[in-house]
Amino acid sequence: MKTISVLGSTGSIGTQTLEVVRSESDRFRISALAAWSSVEILIAQAKEFRPDVVAIGQAELANELRSGVPSDIEVLAGAGSFEELATRAEVAVNGVVGFAGLGVTLAALASGRRLALANKESLIAAGPLVQPLRSTPGAELIPVDSEHSALHQCLRAIEQDSESKHLRQLVLTASGGPFRGFRTEDLERVTVDDALAHPTWSMGPKITVDSSTLMNKGLEVIEAHELFGVPYENIEVVVHPESIVHSMAVFTDGTTMAQLSEPDMKLPIAYALSYPDRTSTPFGAIDWTATKTLHFEPPDMGTFKCLGLAYTAGQLGETAPAWMNGANEAAVDAFLAGSITWASISALIERALEQYDGNAADSIESVIRADRQGREYVARYVAERSR
Ligand code: MG
Repeated sequence: MKTISVLGSTGSIGTQTLEVVRSESDRFRISALAAWSSVEILIAQAKEFRPDVVAIGQAELANELRSGVPSDIEVLAGAGSFEELATRAEVAVNGVVGFAGLGVTLAALASGRRLALANKESLIAAGPLVQPLRSTPGAELIPVDSEHSALHQCLRAIEQDSESKHLRQLVLTASGGPFRGFRTEDLERVTVDDALAHPTWSMGPKITVDSSTLMNKGLEVIEAHELFGVPYENIEVVVHPESIVHSMAVFTDGTTMAQLSEPDMKLPIAYALSYPDRTSTPFGAIDWTATKTLHFEPPDMGTFKCLGLAYTAGQLGETAPAWMNGANEAAVDAFLAGSITWASISALIERALEQYDGNAADSIESVIRADRQGREYVARYVAERSR
């Protein structure tokens, strides 16, 4: 039995991880569950999966959690408890939303665990700090992001040691989000509800807004660079509205390898838990007896500026991705709160990036500082506008 720790167990990735474990219960055992504030759902999960330990991020909810779970389950509380739980199983699933997931990523790798990474922001913002931890004995980083899971699978077609020699290009597919085909003037009046209506994937609100701006794809370009060590000029994005081809690797001999399935996050989750094996439950298997048409088109980078901004931040390197990611998280929060328009998201990130101070990503403090400065720039602008 492989033991699993789920950080962010009540969110979209967390609940789907538990679905995978439920259907493969002879293979996986949940040994730790952590949620930020959804204490009632966490209690129900603890009663069903009987982990050794549970944690709640908001410390004031600890008593409620303690009285709700069976008495043989250890209860921890507070922000640091997520990092502790990341070390309590063979596989740590990082399903925390946003930059807050950094501690879990670092703790899981530093303790030699497999990190099933759904929290792309931690790798993007702190790449230079995460990379050396990947060589900790026992440590393994398996992406849960569907595109990167696809690339991880495609790259198994070539020998690990010849990867850089034979790989020409990574091609990340993007659904294009709910505003694909919109022009700048169409985008001036879009609402929060419009942005949250994703055509193919059902996800949490932050990533769904990121998909509507193409920032999600931009963050995934940086994520692909960090995960696979491929230079930015060899990472391309193609819009594929059906979300069936999850990404592709192009080799020097002209071969393209692709991974295909219905859009179902349980497949990349199951892959990250079971690698190098595969589960016997099919998640997102395609019915090939039905007629299908797949479309591909280049992204509209002039209208969806976030994609280009992410390439810029990635190429600047050091703390620029953290700075940009912080600005994006603040801008998305302000948009979801109704404080700014959808079009302001990319405009604010662009202006925040112009202020980037070029600091090296040589410590956790420097990454946290860059994240905070990116956020503060956006927050100041939002406060000025609402005055
Ligand atoms: Mg993705």
